[in-house]
Amino acid sequence: GPRDALGAYIAKPETYPSSVVVYHNTDFVAIHDMFPKSSLHLLLLPRDSSKTRLHPFDAFEDAEFLTKVKAEVRKLRTHAAAELRRKYGKDSEQERARQEALIADPPPDELPAGRDWEKEIVCGVHAVPSMNHLHVHVIAVDRYSERLKHRKHYNSFSTPFFVPIDDFPLALDDVRRHPTQEGYLKRDFVCWRCGEGFGNKFVQLKEHLKQEFEEWKRL
Ligand code: 5GP
Ligand code: ZN
Repeated sequence: GPRDALGAYIAKPETYPSSVVVYHNTDFVAIHDMFPKSSLHLLLLPRDSSKTRLHPFDAFEDAEFLTKVKAEVRKLRTHAAAELRRKYGKDSEQERARQEALIADPPPDELPAGRDWEKEIVCGVHAVPSMNHLHVHVIAVDRYSERLKHRKHYNSFSTPFFVPIDDFPLALDDVRRHPTQEGYLKRDFVCWRCGEGFGNKFVQLKEHLKQEFEEWKRL
């Protein structure tokens, strides 16, 4: 069924164009999310057949496996950061200052640092995944996408329903083990960037996300 759709990438990554499969190796396949909820939304799929059908909370109980996944997530995040720099870097103040310093005569003693795009990427899993194959989201923080169409789409990346990979292993009494009970997806909207509340007003939230996106990408 549709919940098994990620299995095809794991089985035959070499059959997809680079616009779909970012890279693949023996243990992982990195892909573009088909319904991106941000300006850049990637998925890391572990290929280990003993893990791919498990809930992430169970799969990440295996410390050795978790260490491997974390290392690959860092790699994909670096890749994603480079992609963001290519997309938005030339617009940013810091990036411009760096470019100017690079061509200055005489050159400055120290180059201004470029923007750290890795900070603009979050990596983690949904407390209740909808797709059956184990996957880690590697997603730009902007939450700016036409595909972000419902309350669930926003809140699943903007509440504790989204569990950062570095929070694993989870404690046994971690409340995120009971996401439905906590009602994360039904919460009022809160802007990821400025913290403004939007109640249940999705249209207003979407307009605000567009404004925030324009500022964020140029910062
Ligand atoms: P989940 O909610 O299970 O953590 O996230 C599953 C993700 O898979 C969603 O972000 C969804 O957009 C994405 N997705 C669903 N079907 C497909 C597909 O066939 N191909 C790709 N590349 N992504 C998919
Ligand atoms: Zn805001």
